[in-house]
Amino acid sequence: MLHINKETFKKDYREKFIAIHGKDIEEGTDYNKYEALGSLVRDYVAKMWIDTNKKYNQNGKKQVYYFSMEFLLGRLLGNTLLNLGIRNICKEALDGMGINLNKLEELEEDQGLGNGGLGRLAACFLDSMASLSIPGHGCGIRYKYGFFNQKIINDSQVEVPDNWLKNGNVWEIKKSDKARVVKFGGEVKVDYIYGYLRFNHINYEEVLAVPYDIPIVGYKNNVVNTLRLWSAEPLSNEFDFSLFNRGDFRKAMEYKDSVEAISKILYPDDSFYEGKLLRLKQQYFFVSAGIQSIIYHFKSSQVNINELDEKIAIHINDTHPTLAIPELMRIFIDEEDIGWDNAWRMTNNIISYTNHTIMAEALERWPVDMFKTLLPRIFMIVEEIDKRFCEELQNKYYNQWDKIKRMSIINDGYINMAHLAIVGSHSVNGVAKLHTEILKKQNMADFYYYYPNRFNNKTNGISHRRWLISSNPKLALLLKSTIGDSFIAHPTDMINFEKFAEDKNVQAQLEKIKFENKRKLADLIYRTNGIEVDINSMFDVQIKRIHAYKRQTLNCLRIMDLYDELVENPSLDIIPRTFIFAGKSAPGYYMAKDMITLINVLADKINRDDRVNKKIKVVFMENYRVSLAEAIIPAADLSEQISTTTKEASGTSNMKFMMNGAVTIATLDGANVEIRDEVGNDNIVIFGITENEVLNYYKNGGYNSQQIISGDTRLKRVIDSLIDGTYSKDKNRFKSIYDNLVTYNDEFFVIKDFYSYLEAQKKVDELYKDKSKWQKMCAINIAHSGIFSSDRTIKEYATGIWGSKCLYKNLE
Ligand SMILES: *Cc1c(COP(=O)(O)O)cnc(C)c1O
Repeated sequence: MLHINKETFKKDYREKFIAIHGKDIEEGTDYNKYEALGSLVRDYVAKMWIDTNKKYNQNGKKQVYYFSMEFLLGRLLGNTLLNLGIRNICKEALDGMGINLNKLEELEEDQGLGNGGLGRLAACFLDSMASLSIPGHGCGIRYKYGFFNQKIINDSQVEVPDNWLKNGNVWEIKKSDKARVVKFGGEVKVDYIYGYLRFNHINYEEVLAVPYDIPIVGYKNNVVNTLRLWSAEPLSNEFDFSLFNRGDFRKAMEYKDSVEAISKILYPDDSFYEGKLLRLKQQYFFVSAGIQSIIYHFKSSQVNINELDEKIAIHINDTHPTLAIPELMRIFIDEEDIGWDNAWRMTNNIISYTNHTIMAEALERWPVDMFKTLLPRIFMIVEEIDKRFCEELQNKYYNQWDKIKRMSIINDGYINMAHLAIVGSHSVNGVAKLHTEILKKQNMADFYYYYPNRFNNKTNGISHRRWLISSNPKLALLLKSTIGDSFIAHPTDMINFEKFAEDKNVQAQLEKIKFENKRKLADLIYRTNGIEVDINSMFDVQIKRIHAYKRQTLNCLRIMDLYDELVENPSLDIIPRTFIFAGKSAPGYYMAKDMITLINVLADKINRDDRVNKKIKVVFMENYRVSLAEAIIPAADLSEQISTTTKEASGTSNMKFMMNGAVTIATLDGANVEIRDEVGNDNIVIFGITENEVLNYYKNGGYNSQQIISGDTRLKRVIDSLIDGTYSKDKNRFKSIYDNLVTYNDEFFVIKDFYSYLEAQKKVDELYKDKSKWQKMCAINIAHSGIFSSDRTIKEYATGIWGSKCLYKNLE
């Protein structure tokens, strides 16, 4: 453990400040103070980092590499201090110097290298692996620009580049000596040398992959794992300069720009596949660099390459890193002279794959021509994998050509990355029970039948250290004072809090904590939106990516309906509510952008309307990101998890809200089902059509939204108000939303679920009226949230998929 006290910390901090800024603390800006603190903390971590790596190398335990195109880390200072166990010392010491730690923490830019749930999951997994002392590291891309910043201008989303590195990044260490070369384009010459086939890749373009390492600190256990992010650079000493010397500056700069483009931007699409060449380049770039660096490391530490599958596990987060499969094969075969069968056996043992969505528009299918031109040798290997797999299928499914074609990796000119991922891994997992069952019986039924033992479920989780202890310290303190602090290391111990659910004193404290968190959020809303909200109203929150399947539309229609009802009947008996939204839309997703505009227009209209604004207000908080989620979730009374059943693979914000004592209103989708099973029907409000109804409509048709609307005056009034000038002088402003619901038959069953949702909201009001009952529900939700800690999820991955052991403890 770190042995520092307030006095040594003060001394270290003063010295650090002077060393990096060349002036006294008193002359420094707050940002200078943040930089000095971050830099000092990184120094503290450095020695533990080296020790951890030494231990991993000495004891030879299996190392896990989590490959992901996205890591949505958010801020690192607060969590790193917490995990080092020095947050209090640090806070008090800084207080003594007249510096406010919270204020410095707020100055840190979010590390926003992800779109949403998938990237945040990767971040929570890193935290849990380190905290469980599992030798597990991340591998990804160091995007120069992260997920765009969202501004709301004239009620609409405007995207602004996220230049997060403009002031440097105190957490990263550039490791130039560990750079690797990644090869694109060119041709493959096949030669026979001494009777052996040799594949000679020639005329390729070289890109230098330079790693930046970020320390991932475990909770009070001396473990520091590594997140390695790759940045693309030109090989300046060769190609570039020869062009310069010949005076061809323009071409030299073009080369430089095209190389740097690879790690320049994060694609801002969530659950949507865009078949761009640059994206394919990004995928191969980080996968090839990552795998080369792993193999180099193990070879230089005297590991027999033929036993590599006993030493490492590589996990691929969705299909984005699937090229890990042919890249491993390439290195085994072309560089290590291993025969196909052995190479394939090891690759299979090493790789495991998580599926994140069943939505067709998210499935990655690369056009063969593009793929072959960019990655000629990798294409040959994929072709060979496909050929061998189809031969296997023919043995089993003799002459069933439809089935064989359906399952093949390459067909109709496309490479199906999910198929490659399934065939090349020993484990395929879904992210919640319902999702895994749908994979098995619907989307991947052929593969499940063929490889029944490969499929398994690993329900997602969240780091309770970030999402409870760090972001809701008052609630964490209440838990400690009631059930002790064992839940920090063993989150399922939170179940002991259930005993206090009916304790009036505890209920009062829960209410007080929520109230204080709401006051803090209300202040933030006032500062950012200029809206005064009533902290005695219910905070009803839907924050997540804006997407048709997540059904912000349903929430909006119900607010519009309530608005109409309130205008007609001002004495309507409802609980006053503040409807809080946040979320980004993909820049090219026009319907979702119109949804954002609709929410903002609703907010303008309702908040200004004195007939209703004592009872309801609407707030859209701009630029949703991890740090904003940390501010909103502890203040939520009601968690909106209202996706169309079958569409949300798991969801993770549902777990964050529950852990912070919000009650959930939900469809039985994704992990909501498991939350319901945990807390029981009395402590969650469920509505909406079932999985079977949805699957049946998709299969057999029979749904007609127009018909439902036309026979229903109340629904018709709400839907028509989208296009009759109520919310915009330009009657076409929300036509896209209208068309989706009416003209295109409401793919996501918003109309179908409308009344069921209204009923559920009425029930929420009833429950909220009884304060004691409501607090009891909150307490039960908190008590049952422990199994949704990502510590539980990671233990399941470690024992069930990776076969990894931790350094210090047993995975019980
Ligand atoms: C947790 C989280 C998500 C995922 O939210 P869902 O509601 O599960 O889709 C997305 N973005 C951020 C910033 C998060 O913290």
